[in-house]
Amino acid sequence: TRTRLVLGNWKMHGNLADNTKLLNALLAAPRAATTTQMGVCVPFPYLAQTALALSGSSIAWGAQDISVHAQGAYTGEVSGGMLKDFSCHYVLVGHSERRAMHAESDQLVSDKARAALTAGLTPVVCVGESLAERDAGQAVSVITRQLAPVLALGSEAVLKMVIAYEPVWAIGTGRTATPEQAQEVHAAIRAALKGAGAEQVQILYGGSVKAANAASLFAMPDIDGALVGGASLVAEDFLAIAA
Ligand code: 13P
Repeated sequence: TRTRLVLGNWKMHGNLADNTKLLNALLAAPRAATTTQMGVCVPFPYLAQTALALSGSSIAWGAQDISVHAQGAYTGEVSGGMLKDFSCHYVLVGHSERRAMHAESDQLVSDKARAALTAGLTPVVCVGESLAERDAGQAVSVITRQLAPVLALGSEAVLKMVIAYEPVWAIGTGRTATPEQAQEVHAAIRAALKGAGAEQVQILYGGSVKAANAASLFAMPDIDGALVGGASLVAEDFLAIAA
């Protein structure tokens, strides 16, 4: 059986003072009663603060993007080695906001996943269809297309990844996919992973996850946790999802 994983994606939120409060509140919560793994993916400038606060705790941390390059003249980019310097465990790749606003292609997302693995990081590969694509009955075919270059990295690589299904229409909208809608896509993703070990890969759901809907999502057989945006900024909400 797969361990449940609840990751927060802070997106471009936070400041030193608020982060200290949030991280301290996460650390203060008793977590002995749960086996759920927890982590936060924070903006680059706060990796040092987060690493300092969370080191030695059971809460992991990571970043929200990674360069495909190891080093060089790539102004504004951050390499996997740099993320490792701050003991990141996870890095998001291919979040829909980056696909949409930074024109990240399916191939680039795969290249970023590979760069993460090369650096010893766990890539959290985000996929998801738009509302128009869902309405056209294309949800599974879009996700299959998005995953294809990632799967081409080979099953050994895929087994070291986390996949996050985040339907674009459910992100920040308050409109969650129903557990059945999400399960259908999660099952299709797991089927696409094929090969030995596909059963081990954690597939997270993301999109307006909150304490009130988390349990019914987690009850589905192929939903192994959540990638949480807005609710990860409020300690009690995030903790309730990860309880
Ligand atoms: P919300 O939880 O705010 O809908 O964001 C989801 C998301 O994009 C996490 O990566």
